[in-house]
Amino acid sequence: MKNIIGFLIVSVILTTNIFAEKPVDEKVNFLPEKDKAQYFFDRGLGYYNLNQYSNALEFLKQALEIYIGNDDKPNMGRCYNNIGNIYNKLSIFNKAMEYHLLSLELEEELDDKEGIISSLNNIGNVLRNIDKFDQALDYYQSALNISYEINDKKSLSITLNNIGNIYLSKENFENALKFYNRSLVLKKELKDNFGAATTYNNIGIAYQGLRSTTKALENYNISLDMMKKLNDGNGIASAYFHIGITYYEKNVENKASYNLEKALAYAQNYDNKQIMISCYKILAEIYKNQRNYLKAYTAMKLYAQIKDDLITVQTQKAVAELQISYETEKKKKEIELLKTNASIIKYQSKENEMFMVILVIVLIAVAVLGFFFYFQFRQKANTNETIEEQNIKLTEAYNKMEELAKTDLLTGLSNRRDMYQKIKHETDRFERNEKPFIILMGDIDNFKKINDTYGHDAGDHVLTSVSSLMLSFMRKQDIVGRWGGEEFLLLLPETNMAGGKKIAEKLRLRIKNESIEYKGNILNVTITIGVSVYDRVRDVNESIKEADKAMYFGKIRNKNCVVTSDKI
Ligand code: GH3
Ligand code: MG
Ligand code: MG
Repeated sequence: MKNIIGFLIVSVILTTNIFAEKPVDEKVNFLPEKDKAQYFFDRGLGYYNLNQYSNALEFLKQALEIYIGNDDKPNMGRCYNNIGNIYNKLSIFNKAMEYHLLSLELEEELDDKEGIISSLNNIGNVLRNIDKFDQALDYYQSALNISYEINDKKSLSITLNNIGNIYLSKENFENALKFYNRSLVLKKELKDNFGAATTYNNIGIAYQGLRSTTKALENYNISLDMMKKLNDGNGIASAYFHIGITYYEKNVENKASYNLEKALAYAQNYDNKQIMISCYKILAEIYKNQRNYLKAYTAMKLYAQIKDDLITVQTQKAVAELQISYETEKKKKEIELLKTNASIIKYQSKENEMFMVILVIVLIAVAVLGFFFYFQFRQKANTNETIEEQNIKLTEAYNKMEELAKTDLLTGLSNRRDMYQKIKHETDRFERNEKPFIILMGDIDNFKKINDTYGHDAGDHVLTSVSSLMLSFMRKQDIVGRWGGEEFLLLLPETNMAGGKKIAEKLRLRIKNESIEYKGNILNVTITIGVSVYDRVRDVNESIKEADKAMYFGKIRNKNCVVTSDKI
């Protein structure tokens, strides 16, 4: 339960996106300065809405540069705010914080209340993403107070929802529900459908935390319908995901996998890694229970791949935490220094000016030295941490590489190289117990025709289907490998010729009777299998060759048959 709640909470909080495609510009250079800035700003927002964050950043920063040049403060504030949000999406939290603070500073100067509320909320979001829940709550609370002060319902509805998120993160589900419901009332009143759909989803999570499954499902489904109407892929993914998880918890596996697969498809489209990783993990579990090992294996492999990316995010979180503490400290010191300066200027007479200048210089020098030592200390701490992290990453990468080196990428079976190792393992075992083992060499019949008729993808599909069929059909102790293109080598430990022949015959029939579907076409696949035994009379390579010869013999006969090496 705890794990699942963890999943749920993380999934509402973090979404990471990767970017692509480089923007091109030509005519813009001829525009007047002001229009140019507006153009950059609009394009930046456009890319932001498309989740293409690196492009968005590029444009917004160009716009910002022009606005700074013109000292256009309201527009500078808008740029800072959006840039901060992008960094937050990219999980670069220290940068996000930096820009939101700049934005807040400007808005305070301009006394722009709505801007201030928005910045306070955004700062709260960054803090929540690095698990500083209490600090986040402080910021949200300030946002809430100002929203009441100016009676701005939109801001209120957003802030109340954000506070609900904090209680959810703290697993205080009753309080979360209270805030979400207050937010929902306002969002409905404002006809803010997207906001309401998000809050319905959150309410579902809170109910699930309270183990009221029916109510949870009810709310998720409302959210799903609304998100579908709004055509919001991330929202749809999230709702399906939560419905899937609820069924999984209730052990209704078919409904769980149906909804999780839907969630996965949407999450893939929108590159929503948090939902993807959670789906893969749970789907792998479900497929395994269904004994669909190939699917389970594939899901697990994808899970591992994305997990690597997210580890980086975790690392960034740790670094950001350090940096934010540092920035906050720095800001405090700067403000104090300014205050000191102000009081000095106010109260000191002209004669003392020189002395005060020296004092300020000394103060600054002390501060600089202090920072210098602090930096050195931090850098050292960081270096140690980095080495340790790198070691962990290296070990993980090594293990993964080792795993990949053994695996055939298309089918997930052992590749030829790994099969040689496994054969060696079996011959060693023979040395200990003197029990023979069987080698099956199977080759799909007329495979080239499938490629030629339906295309290479259809061929690939046949290969993966036959592989997973073999895996699920064979006994636990048997080993299945991809020997070459459409050739499979199977090892049956502690089995004699009679037993090997029987199993090979059953496998052949099983494959013949399976109808493999590809894009509406039913592909009938058969296989020819050669059988040989290893009993130390011959070298194991000889036994493999014999199985191969027997298979070839079967091809010359009518294909779709089993031939044992003692018959040739
Ligand atoms: P036979 O019944 O005698 O075994 O005939 P066949 O057509 O199955 O065998 P052949 O050796 O003539 O052709 C095998 C084809 O398999 C040729 C090759 O392009 C194709 N092939 C090999 N590896 C792959 C793969 O990974 N994917 C796909 N789609 N095709 C592959
Ligand atoms: Mg073939
Ligand atoms: Mg072949």
